[in-house]
Amino acid sequence: MTKEEKKERNKKWRLKHLEEKREYDRKYYYEHRDEILTYGREWNKNNKEHVHRYNKEYFNKHYQKIKKLKEKLGNHCLFCGFSKEPKILHFHHLRDKKFSINRMIKLPIEEIKKEVDKCVLLCPNCHAIEHLKK
Ligand SMILES: [Zn+2]
Repeated sequence: MTKEEKKERNKKWRLKHLEEKREYDRKYYYEHRDEILTYGREWNKNNKEHVHRYNKEYFNKHYQKIKKLKEKLGNHCLFCGFSKEPKILHFHHLRDKKFSINRMIKLPIEEIKKEVDKCVLLCPNCHAIEHLKK
């Protein structure tokens, strides 16, 4: 067996076991879903300060990106025109939502822009009403 062949074989082996590992993780998650979720909730509850600080830092770090995206969409609620505080405006998806903009803001800006193209800005009230309709 040549070096190249060995390399190829190792790669295949790793790939094969990667899938097994994923399968194992997936199975573990479904079998222990409640425990895992409860653990996460408990942890958040017991580490409120940490979670709060983390969220705040995360938000501040990425807010400039969000701000620019909101400016592009006009900085106001499409339905009622609310524009006093762009910070509280929500990205509302009109079609095939892949992810929430705020949650995934750390993704490359090209990805985010593609997603924002499917969105309009709504204030929290109009957003809630819009979702009630569905
Ligand atoms: Zn509104």
